[in-house]
Amino acid sequence: MDRESTSSAQELLQIGTIHHSYLSDRLKIAIGSQLNDRTQDPEHPDRTRFNCVSQPPYLNYYLDITLMGKPTGFIEYLREVEAEISPVERIHNWDEFHLPLPDQTLRNQSARCMDCGTPFCHTGNMVAGMASGCPIGNLIPEWNDLVYRGLWREALDRLHKTNNFPEFTGRVCPAPCEGSCVLGIHKSPVTIKSIEHSIVDKGWEEGWIVPQPPAKRTGKKIAIVGSGPAGLCAAAQLNQAGHWVTVLERADRPGGLLMYGIPNMKLEKEQVVLRRIELLEAEGITFTCNVEVGKDLTTADLLKDYDAVVLCTGATKPRDLPIAGRELTGIHFAMDFLTANTQAVLDGKENSNFISAAGKDVIIIGGGDTGTDCVGTSIRHNCNSVEQLEIMPTPPLKRSADNPWPEWPKVYKMDYGQEEAAAKFGHDPRAYLTTATKFEGDENGNVTAVHTVQVQWEKNEQGQFALKHVPGTEKVNPAQLVLLAMGFLGPEQPLLTALGIECNNRSNIQAEHEKYTTNIPGVFAAGDCRRGQSLVVWAFNEGRGVARECDLYLMGSTDLP
Ligand SMILES: Cc1cc2nc3c(=O)[nH]c(=O)nc-3n(C[C@H](O)[C@H](O)[C@H](O)COP(=O)(O)OP(=O)(O)OC[C@H]3O[C@@H](n4cnc5c(N)ncnc54)[C@H](O)[C@@H]3O)c2cc1C
Ligand code: SF4
Repeated sequence: MDRESTSSAQELLQIGTIHHSYLSDRLKIAIGSQLNDRTQDPEHPDRTRFNCVSQPPYLNYYLDITLMGKPTGFIEYLREVEAEISPVERIHNWDEFHLPLPDQTLRNQSARCMDCGTPFCHTGNMVAGMASGCPIGNLIPEWNDLVYRGLWREALDRLHKTNNFPEFTGRVCPAPCEGSCVLGIHKSPVTIKSIEHSIVDKGWEEGWIVPQPPAKRTGKKIAIVGSGPAGLCAAAQLNQAGHWVTVLERADRPGGLLMYGIPNMKLEKEQVVLRRIELLEAEGITFTCNVEVGKDLTTADLLKDYDAVVLCTGATKPRDLPIAGRELTGIHFAMDFLTANTQAVLDGKENSNFISAAGKDVIIIGGGDTGTDCVGTSIRHNCNSVEQLEIMPTPPLKRSADNPWPEWPKVYKMDYGQEEAAAKFGHDPRAYLTTATKFEGDENGNVTAVHTVQVQWEKNEQGQFALKHVPGTEKVNPAQLVLLAMGFLGPEQPLLTALGIECNNRSNIQAEHEKYTTNIPGVFAAGDCRRGQSLVVWAFNEGRGVARECDLYLMGSTDLP
């Protein structure tokens, strides 16, 4: 609902407008008894405007509306998420493996959204250092209600109001919204991510998502460096504001980590990522690939040719493990393995120089999401075995007392890669509280084994947790392929040095969140290069935010949200 209250000295107070879909009989009666004027909103024919003629002193009128469709839904229906093709079947191809839920099931799942009164799912606040709720403020209760009523197109419109590309988040977002769903306090949360996924997939299937070029052009030219989710969101928003946008990308295909990072089985490249990029092109955005800014295009030309520059270069500098034997052949950064693999999937393996795990014992160092993608990819190569080393302890099965709702739940879960490893090799591949101490190789310089030891975390004299090796737990694990997936150390520096951009003590670009201005006027920064390696949904948050600030800088005012 758009509320447009006014307390000025007008006699006609417009106290709100509401979409027709919310006008239940009960609501009409309630409003009829309180208000004395109701008209169609001329700017929005699908809405009714509520007015009230009043004499001073003006009363504080409000619309008191119950929005949710089925108050008892959360009692009647159990949570159901999208079904998956079984691990033993899906490991033979690179296809996505989630199966759509039938419409009626989705409507029942939406009905579980319970009109909680103070929803946390769409707030995106930081709680205990982690996002609690949706970082882009998706209007979750509203589209749940619309789906329950079968108003899919309206649900899609609500979704697009805050999210430029729901087909990406609907597939890969870890869904902090569900961690803060009020229903999750005592039952399983609403399956928000599956509903988002279904709304947008229906939108594409039905042909509702079509190019919408801006009506007017401002004549301003903006360069966006990097075509990951932050760059794509910034481009979409700035183009809608009427600017000419060029996205410069050093890779051969646009999409950043959506293209070359997240594997195809989690996010399909041609039918999902490139489909949206083609739509952005049709709306007037230019994508120029195979151009590394700072190398193929000088920074002087970049600053000269454009009215503003937005840096969305990501945080792809990998953390290394400088232990004995690191120089051996067969030890790679995870991203080299994943990028070359996706290139091979798209270009055909015979044309590609990818790193193969076929027939090998694979050890992945790092138990996070990048490591999980390496597990799923190694299994699809038909590796001989796979193990994932994680230095932290096994998380608890349920929230611990110091991790209450609505914080992000830090609990044990099997992601798709671990499920696949368990199906193929009989166990979760993660070895917790374990670290590598040395790599061993043969006479030809190829890695043959990884030495490991178990660790424990103990508080030192300064009260900080320090790592200690546990004597007697040393092991030698055969390995012909080792993948380093231990996180990232911020953005690559050469372009930033050439531009003279200041970085902070975490080596990320120095620019305030929600301002995005760097030390160089007209140059903005957003996404992982500003906040460090994060999530797609945060890249969306920053891409939309930087567009707003850049538009304000160029035009002196902005209508962008
Ligand atoms: C393996 C992996 C899996 C992940 N899985 C998930 C997931 O499932 N869910 C999730 O939410 N998040 C996931 N993430 C994190 C998420 O992908 C990132 O947080 C997000 O992509 C960051 O977006 P970005 O636009 O800031 O940067 P990126 O996506 O990193 O894009 C940066 C782009 O800039 C380009 N670039 C850099 N320098 C230049 C230059 N000088 N000239 C031209 N172009 C340049 C790069 O080539 C790249 O295309 C994953 C990350 C990794 C590494
Ligand atoms: S983008 Fe992520 S956090 Fe937001 S509603 Fe979708 S799944 Fe939830």
